[in-house]
Amino acid sequence: MISIGVDAGGTSTRVGIVDSAGDLLHVDHTPTSTFSAPDQFVTHVVGVVNKLVEDGHHGLTDGGSIGVAVAGTLDRGRESVHRSVNLPFLEGHPLRQAIADELHTHTVLMTDAEAATWGEYSALSPRPDRFVHLRLGTGLACGVVIDHNLLRLDADRTGHLEYLVVDRGPTALPCSCGKSGCLETIASGPAIARQIEGTGPIAKSESGSTTPTLTRIVTERVANVLTIAIANLVEQFHPSVITLGGGVIEAWPQIAEATVDKHQRNQAQSSVAVVEVIRATRGDQAGVIGAARLAGVDCHALATTRGDARESGASACV
Ligand SMILES: [Zn+2]
Repeated sequence: MISIGVDAGGTSTRVGIVDSAGDLLHVDHTPTSTFSAPDQFVTHVVGVVNKLVEDGHHGLTDGGSIGVAVAGTLDRGRESVHRSVNLPFLEGHPLRQAIADELHTHTVLMTDAEAATWGEYSALSPRPDRFVHLRLGTGLACGVVIDHNLLRLDADRTGHLEYLVVDRGPTALPCSCGKSGCLETIASGPAIARQIEGTGPIAKSESGSTTPTLTRIVTERVANVLTIAIANLVEQFHPSVITLGGGVIEAWPQIAEATVDKHQRNQAQSSVAVVEVIRATRGDQAGVIGAARLAGVDCHALATTRGDARESGASACV
């Protein structure tokens, strides 16, 4: 049985085929900026899926499934995109049904954070009972797995999650979500670029610093706030493993190294249970793999944070 994963992120939209072992067989990349209307997006996804299936001689109708991950929040029924900064034209459109109607295949809608989290979680062996994935890219994403179920963190959410607020002081930077001091204001790709380019708070206070020094200072500051976020996540969810991934970590691995180092030093002074913080392993394919697996072989795992019936996962399993 094969599954299709679609990962529509801020930069790139990936459509890939994943086999029953969870391995990515083929993937297509298209710039997300290509799309400006829902029909156009659906037509693209359908066209690529049909081509991948034909080229690989895979059968999709015989028990196959499609997981569609989008950068944004979803309506409660996982039928449409509620809010998306990067794909605003999809907001309110019945996306799940539109793709299901075209491909006549079991289709599941999820967030890109959920898909990437599951992509990284499913790469671990053994899979931990309690797991958190923190993803730093253009924006910030976080996913949590408890007892092999993915928590739904986006329901009714209007701003970044409280435990990702890392600066509660009077000089905390305002965030695009409406709060202040979110991890995103310091550790996202654009925030780091602003600091390096001299328009951020660190560069201002370090005027005259050489670039290598400034780079070290930014790395240190990002690692500091990541360590705060990790401590908040540990307190909230008690994970045994936290993975750090996303474009920022891929491009700048020293941030992960510095964060792991700080976390280990903090942990050595603490009596709480050991939490392993490691770099994620699936890179930018995590989302497409996770989306396919959550729609297919791991379809049991989509749950809610609120203890509701598994509103889409269990009932939608093929
Ligand atoms: Zn925010």
